Amino acid sequence: MTNLSKFYQKTWQQRLQALIDQKIISDQQRKILQCSASDPELGDQQIENYLTHYNLPEGLALHYLINGKRYLIPMVTEEPSVIAASSHGAAIIEKSGGFTTKVSGHLLWGQIVFEKVSQPEKLKKNLEEQQEKLILIANQAHPSLQKRGGGARHLRVRILAADLVSLDLAIDTQEAMGANMVNSMLEAVANYLGTQISAPVLLSVLSNLADESLAQASCRIPVEFLTRPQLAGQQVAEKIAVASRLAQLDPYRAATHNKGIMNGVDAVAIAMGNDWRAIESAAHAFAVKSGSYRGLSQWQLNSDNSILEGKITLPLPVAVVGGSIKIVPLVQLNQQLAKINSATQLAEIIVSVGLAQNLAALQALVSEGIQQGHMRLQLRATILAAGAQPNEVATILKQMQQMKKTDLTTAQSLLAKKHESEH
Ligand code: NDP
Repeated sequence: MTNLSKFYQKTWQQRLQALIDQKIISDQQRKILQCSASDPELGDQQIENYLTHYNLPEGLALHYLINGKRYLIPMVTEEPSVIAASSHGAAIIEKSGGFTTKVSGHLLWGQIVFEKVSQPEKLKKNLEEQQEKLILIANQAHPSLQKRGGGARHLRVRILAADLVSLDLAIDTQEAMGANMVNSMLEAVANYLGTQISAPVLLSVLSNLADESLAQASCRIPVEFLTRPQLAGQQVAEKIAVASRLAQLDPYRAATHNKGIMNGVDAVAIAMGNDWRAIESAAHAFAVKSGSYRGLSQWQLNSDNSILEGKITLPLPVAVVGGSIKIVPLVQLNQQLAKINSATQLAEIIVSVGLAQNLAALQALVSEGIQQGHMRLQLRATILAAGAQPNEVATILKQMQQMKKTDLTTAQSLLAKKHESEH
């Protein structure tokens, strides 16, 4: 049995030593953990039981023209071809005049759910009548938010079942994502209501279905800009429109359609120090809001079939302050690279990235297929996984391309031959 008792009370060095003492890691592996630990003091403040910093590659997506302004967009991802696809999609849209975006609000819903309710309609009426008072209590719990122009705005009451009622409070969180602020405001309201309502409060917490923080992006692409080596732009555009319709009809396809969108969305969210789990959960909950799971973007041809029109709507509870944003130096640098200083601007770039990512994926899928481009980049990862040093990748890559092979076994055997010939 391993004994790591009071692990959380140990210092970082003691934790590493405990893993060695328990024969969980070797001394060599401790060195790996130490080398990756770029800022142990910060890490120890950010999370519990800190071991090391897990690094992901960061790259820059280019060609973004959004509302007439050019952006360089930092993206953090381990997946090959995401940044290339993003820049490719953005370049087509740049040639077509760029993205137009609209951000409608930055409100987060908070829920106070009552259980064991005996008269749901009566409770609903009671809560609705107290709107003004409840908003006041919420705002008094975090006055600095109201001073900045934010705060609780309105409420609604939903009867979820005969015994369950949800009081939802919409809160303008300004430049923050707002989870913590909303949760404290809700607890204050729940405490107040606990003294006057007989039904007990089951829980009070924000909702991640951020449908009052919607961002939209659209673009209009002349079909000739979509031409591929073996397919005319007109045909590509028609096929993209059908693929888009398919993602509205079939949840199996919609899930993959949306995964492609989130490839870009998450990569920017991570680079900007945002809570990408919150963004993921919002996106998928929003995608199923109509009752069936659908693609988050739509593409269609205009009336004379000369322009492909694309649009996307995403719930984006994003932030430029709060959480770990101001304490991670790289996030500051990334905000500066992208020249963003507001949550609205961040939502504008993220929603545009989602649309560009989707365009690039659909264009490849309906023409040569995604494997051709994807595998070219994936091959590098396969060669590294075979044990190659970074300076060996180019040689093995060339050989594998000549052999038209993409598998790990071939990479391993070519690498072994190379090493043999060098001895
Ligand atoms: P914080 O708790 O960090 O609160 C935001 C902070 O930003 C406050 O301290 C606020 O200052 C400050 N601030 C400075 N300028 C502004 C401005 N212009 N507008 C708004 N705030 C400003 O973070 P959040 O409340 O945003 O919560 C986000 C964190 O919560 C994330 O780390 C997320 O991962 C986590 N979380 C997410 C959950 C979920 O999604 N379900 C659940 C729980 C936590 P002041 O105090 O003076 O107002």
